[in-house]
Amino acid sequence: MRSCGVALAAIVLLAAGNAYAQQQNEETAPKKEESFEAELCKDKDAGEWFRLVTGEGDNCRDVIQCTSSGLQAIRCPAGLYFDIEKQTCDWKDSVKNCKLKNKERKVKPMLFTDKPVCSEGELACGDTQCIERGLFCNGEKDCADGSDETTCDIDSDPNSAPPCDPAVCVLPDCFCSEDGTQVPGDLPPKEVPQMITITFDDAINNNNIGLYKEIFNGKRKNPNGCDIKATYFVSHKYTNYSAVQEMHRKGHEIAVHSISHNDDENFWSNASVNDWVKEMGGMRIITEKYANITDNSVVGVRAPYLRVGGNNQFTMMEEEAFLYDSTITAPLNNPPLWPYTMYFRMPHRCHGNLQKCPTRSHAVWEMVLNELDRREDPNSDEYLPGCAMVDSCSNILTGDQFYNFLNHNFDRHYEENRAPLGE
Ligand SMILES: [Zn+2]
Repeated sequence: MRSCGVALAAIVLLAAGNAYAQQQNEETAPKKEESFEAELCKDKDAGEWFRLVTGEGDNCRDVIQCTSSGLQAIRCPAGLYFDIEKQTCDWKDSVKNCKLKNKERKVKPMLFTDKPVCSEGELACGDTQCIERGLFCNGEKDCADGSDETTCDIDSDPNSAPPCDPAVCVLPDCFCSEDGTQVPGDLPPKEVPQMITITFDDAINNNNIGLYKEIFNGKRKNPNGCDIKATYFVSHKYTNYSAVQEMHRKGHEIAVHSISHNDDENFWSNASVNDWVKEMGGMRIITEKYANITDNSVVGVRAPYLRVGGNNQFTMMEEEAFLYDSTITAPLNNPPLWPYTMYFRMPHRCHGNLQKCPTRSHAVWEMVLNELDRREDPNSDEYLPGCAMVDSCSNILTGDQFYNFLNHNFDRHYEENRAPLGE
């Protein structure tokens, strides 16, 4: 799995210069300045960046925002443009909206009004049209103004899953806790075995079989004497299915990672339920047939580039009877999170700028990926953001560094709530 996304340099803060009111006489200047500013800022959201001048070149690096102390300007570092939709600097080639002054205005629905606008079971669109509650945030625009699909994160989707209710959510079919860190069954951590999950993504073929043989050489054992095992999230392209069959025979778990591994990351965020069925259900059919897996053990899903597919992905998983997903990342946290079911609301924020997490209730387990602490020595090194996959912890260069990194993350799990440690 290659790490995705662009690491962007911090944007440079320029002086909040006011070039617009030069050469005004002293008495009228402040007034004109104010009205110019008021005019600019009247339809802008708090913190929203926008352009004064559109077009390629340096114009596409400059943006301003309205603050309580006046207009504030920034310029993206050389080589980068400002992406007005994403609201961040990005590589020039990736920014397609230099011609837009501000991001698209989306009409919001009227979910909270003093007096109800609609009858029971219905909610109001931005233009007071009433539609069925279930049509909000279902991925299709049902309001004439499209406002039923504009505020759909976990906190605002009117159909979102309720917060964890431990009285209803009972093992073995359901598990949740308020912040996700509680040990299942309320066991004291000292009595819980520390589980380690080792997972690999993408094709299995001649490029990596040798490496896998080296890692799983029959000398590395669990405390019960059995060999250690891994989970392979296999994608179709370049996969050698006789190698998959051999992995399965040796007792490793085979799970799916799509047929196409579509390299447009946004595809996975926006794929329909049907796209997901074809990619993941299809991959299971291919794997079972060509690797001759007949024990119904292909039950796990991981999306390419760890791009969560929102409700569509999880609806597919219910329809196709997949047991668990392992795509969602939890931000670096002490103590770390235990796996949870998606019947109730996710116990952490949807991590990552472009991610679309499921909001509705789904009968699917989440083997959440706890971010790892990439520092070698957490006591002396300065704080760094976590990393979800070992290969994205790119500051680690030597074997010794890697050893220290693994040990310190092991301790973080082992000495706290013993949530499974893995990648
Ligand atoms: Zn992949």
